[in-house]
Amino acid sequence: MISVEKALAIVEQNISHLKKVNIPLTDAFECILAEDIFSPINMPPFKQSAMDGYALKLSGTDTYKIIGEVQAGSVNKYTLTEGETVRIFTGASVPKSADTVVMQEHVSRVENTISITKRPLKNANVRPMGEQLKQGQLSLEKGTLLNAAALGFLAGLGIQNIEVYKKPSVSILITGNELQQPGKPLELGQVYDSNSISLHFALVKLGISKIKTAYIPDDFATTSKCIKEHLESSDIVLISGGISVGDYDFVKGALEENKVEEKFYKVNQKPGKPLYFGKKDETLVFALPGNPASSLNCFYVYVLPAIKKQMGYKNIHLDKKLAVATTAISNSFSKTLFLKATVENGKATVLTGQASSMLKSFAVSNALLVIPEDVTEIMEGQNLSYLDLNS
Ligand code: AMP
Ligand code: MG
Repeated sequence: MISVEKALAIVEQNISHLKKVNIPLTDAFECILAEDIFSPINMPPFKQSAMDGYALKLSGTDTYKIIGEVQAGSVNKYTLTEGETVRIFTGASVPKSADTVVMQEHVSRVENTISITKRPLKNANVRPMGEQLKQGQLSLEKGTLLNAAALGFLAGLGIQNIEVYKKPSVSILITGNELQQPGKPLELGQVYDSNSISLHFALVKLGISKIKTAYIPDDFATTSKCIKEHLESSDIVLISGGISVGDYDFVKGALEENKVEEKFYKVNQKPGKPLYFGKKDETLVFALPGNPASSLNCFYVYVLPAIKKQMGYKNIHLDKKLAVATTAISNSFSKTLFLKATVENGKATVLTGQASSMLKSFAVSNALLVIPEDVTEIMEGQNLSYLDLNS
């Protein structure tokens, strides 16, 4: 059985970013930029007032005559001579002949004359053309995550279409005869399906929107047929359950029948030992153990970095950080343990309910503590590594 480190290395080696696509800015939320963007314009595009006030060429006098007004968005047609000013508003074009805007709070006005009550410094409250960015300058680098601010920034430069790495489309295939959907009564032997929801929203959090979910009964023919269909239509196939060694676990055989190339099966970890990773052409296949905490654990540790790599991220893993153990933690399994925990002010507390069937501790945790396979004991007060679930 391979180690966690080896399994992660295999996943990374087998994945590269998806193709570049040119898409409208409005479709690019949470994509990674696949090109350097050079500004098509100066920003700001003209000499701009940063305040509501009066634009003038600062000279010896404190008294100026108002000869007109420039509103934001209107064309500035004024040339000022000494002792003249125009009323101006935030965002409006400052006359070429003015060098300073005096805030309206710093003047007293009588009809068409102002007296400055608090002298500004020369050039105050004027944003020079191209102050933030000159035309042709690098505005955003390839590899930038397009969050709300980044998209707004590009829109502010008048950019409509950009090149990003394609986000993967993902199929979630949920196996298990025992599964029932919330809203329907539970018969004896049934449990409600939680993995479809956990996996769906873990994908949504990564910005994935092309998600298909299908339910598969525990029979070989249907499992194989469904896998075939989704291998053809998705970049990633996530399968939940049916990958263990029980008589009704048909996923592995069905993957073999579909000529998916196995990259690894089983990892020396707890939870999530029977994790499978394979590839058919460029389609990735992760078969996740059905127990809800195992399934989600494997998602965060293996599937998330795979998706981020396909999306063009540079840092693909959850952030690995250090915290101090608030209690002793023992590892008698000779496996890498992932423990649901809370980390507050640098202190890590393991939550009760670590069984792979239990999702409650996951629901309230913000960290997965990582106890390496060769570490048998962490002492209270000792440093340990954890994966930040909020990263
Ligand atoms: P399996 O990996 O198919 O052997 O399933 C292991 C355990 O996880 C069994 O107790 C299943 O009932 C449970 N399980 C499998 N799939 C799901 C699911 N989608 N939601 C909740 N529990 C599940
Ligand atoms: Mg099953």
